Amino acid sequence: MARRAQILAIDAGGTMTDTFIIDDKGDFVVGKAQSTPEDESIGLLNSARDALTYWDTTVTDEFPKLLAGVYSGTAMLNRLVSRKGRKVGLIVNKGLEDFHRMGRSIQSYLGYSYSDRLHLNTHRYEPPIVPRSLTRGVTERVDLFGNVVIPLYEHEVEPAVEELLEQGVEAIVISLLQSYKYPDHERKIRDIANEVIQRTGKKIPVFASVDYYPVRKETHRTNTTIIEAYAADPSRETLQKINTSIKESGATFDLRVMASHGGTISTQANELARTLVSGPIGGVVGARYLGEYLGIPNIACSDIGGTSFDVALITQGDLSINSSPDMARLVLSLPLVAMDTIGAGAGSFVRIDPNFKSITLGPDSAGSRVGVCYEEGGIDTVTVSDCHVVLGLINPNNFLGGEIQLKPERAYEAVKTQIAEPLGLTVEEAAYGVIDLLESQLRNYLESMILGKGYSPSQYVCLSYGGGGPLHTAGYIKGLGFEDVLVPAWAAGFSAFGCGAADFEYRYDKTLDLNVNDGAVDEEKVQAGDQLQVAWDELIEKVAVEFDKNGIERKNVDFRLYFRMQYQGQLNDLEIEAPISSFRETQDWDALVNAFEETYTRVYAKAATSPELGYSVTGAIVRGIVDVAKPRIPEEPLVGETPPEEAYLGKRNVYWDGKYLEADIWEMEKLQPGNRIEAFAILESPATTFVIPPGFTTYLDKHRIFHLQEIE
Ligand code: AMP
Ligand code: MG
Repeated sequence: MARRAQILAIDAGGTMTDTFIIDDKGDFVVGKAQSTPEDESIGLLNSARDALTYWDTTVTDEFPKLLAGVYSGTAMLNRLVSRKGRKVGLIVNKGLEDFHRMGRSIQSYLGYSYSDRLHLNTHRYEPPIVPRSLTRGVTERVDLFGNVVIPLYEHEVEPAVEELLEQGVEAIVISLLQSYKYPDHERKIRDIANEVIQRTGKKIPVFASVDYYPVRKETHRTNTTIIEAYAADPSRETLQKINTSIKESGATFDLRVMASHGGTISTQANELARTLVSGPIGGVVGARYLGEYLGIPNIACSDIGGTSFDVALITQGDLSINSSPDMARLVLSLPLVAMDTIGAGAGSFVRIDPNFKSITLGPDSAGSRVGVCYEEGGIDTVTVSDCHVVLGLINPNNFLGGEIQLKPERAYEAVKTQIAEPLGLTVEEAAYGVIDLLESQLRNYLESMILGKGYSPSQYVCLSYGGGGPLHTAGYIKGLGFEDVLVPAWAAGFSAFGCGAADFEYRYDKTLDLNVNDGAVDEEKVQAGDQLQVAWDELIEKVAVEFDKNGIERKNVDFRLYFRMQYQGQLNDLEIEAPISSFRETQDWDALVNAFEETYTRVYAKAATSPELGYSVTGAIVRGIVDVAKPRIPEEPLVGETPPEEAYLGKRNVYWDGKYLEADIWEMEKLQPGNRIEAFAILESPATTFVIPPGFTTYLDKHRIFHLQEIE
């Protein structure tokens, strides 16, 4: 059958590169191949080749037909975490040379469990990205209102830059206090640095924080600009190499990269650091896209991979954005799709707590080395995957479609000696106990996350994906009362699918401090609104410049204006879409305030609104969006409840809740829309396994999405 491949989405992980290729009918194939960090394009093309074999076609035939391609990967994050970036020099205010390595002290315990946070003796600093020896101070001071208190001592800049150059820095970052309020000093230093560099005949890029992240919080801003210089800018070359190589294979489009704000950007984008985290974002963006298509406004996204359980909420069609997140144990000023994560996944290590004789899970995991059952992985501690194998939930001959052979006897032996014997249980009881514990942890976590945000599971549809999600969907949704529970048949490739579904979108933020009291006169409102408009104009310009790099004209960009507002003196602000298309008059101010209070009431409570405190606009945001080709969601005719015989793979003994049961095994890809499957059943696919335990039933809808139902 002739195919018309349209979209290529790539998830280049640390060990595996997944490709997701979608054709004009919405059919898709998923390919996997070993990642090749020294030249990622090799792994990518291998993976694409693997995917296309399912369609009996080739890269040479299909690549020229593609309309779009999106990349997400972990290379940049790895470069940062393994401290393999450029040698960066830093110029800051004289006297503040240590603030980068002090990391607001919070960086000494970021990512720790609650119990470890409490104990000072567990706190530990990572080595700073820029050491003290490559940091120089220059004299200047700007106050928090943006007034110059001490002028820039320009004569100090040249020697500072020269000293850094002598030490062989490969990039220079400049970050001064309050520069987002008064950018001139940073830019002056930048210009002097560029002159000095030019004189030496070297080619060294200079990054002034205000040209990248003109926002409050100097540690966040400095970290982010340093990452730009240290890891992101060097990755640009890698991305361009990938772009060139897919073009050599016949592609005609420019590759886009998934970014932390939930949109995709060009490899030529000014701020590339925001592509640092991309894979998990894809899943949430994919969920929003699916929700829009199916008319589901509220979705609880849950993703289980080898290492973690990630959850995010889409409420009224919107995902929420965190504008000062932390990543890789650094505080940053990047807009990041808000997600909650616990280190419990299918590859998590299982141990016994010596004090309580109870089972503990994670937080560390075997990752791609699966568990003891995968001999070549060299792991000797039991993982959750070993328990899957012991119980018969996972088919040891179908892991990654059979590419990796698992050895059940190794898993059995390890669970026996490490868990079962010390606890005085049978091997099956021990393995089942692990799964039960994992599922109840996930269930509690999911429920408390939703309740903690002021919502209830009954208002949400739960979407479960990731290779490991469907193994546990029934376990972690049991009794929570979700409106519906969905498992897409392409769960294992859902994050890559989501990258393919992301808009071509730039988003820029700018910090503001516009205070207007309750009952202020019109003139004050207009003055504040005018300043907000100035910021919007500036950001619109930035967005337009980025799209221009890809030859996209301003008139084809859908600009959306947002602002951040809070009551004066409160600690948290809210991000709100502006109900106006530009600021002109007093009524516009009132419209902004109304929109803020409406959201405030939804997030907190009507009784909490506090207009008497007055209002503060703390930021301006512009998103610019351009339409791109997106994957089509499958639409197939319903053929009835009885599954086709060729989908049936036979029976397998599975240990479940105290006894062995005979489970029906089905091949997921061969099931047809309308089919209903009764428990006990296991649906197998090359990269995921869907478990339908007693008390549940599922049916496949016309979009190839399974609905998991609890029998009352
Ligand atoms: P992901 O990181 O999203 O690809 O998920 C990986 C996890 O999917 C693994 O740790 C497995 O527990 C789970 N999984 C379920 N079925 C399969 C399968 N047939 N092949 C590989 N992984 C599977
Ligand atoms: Mg994943």
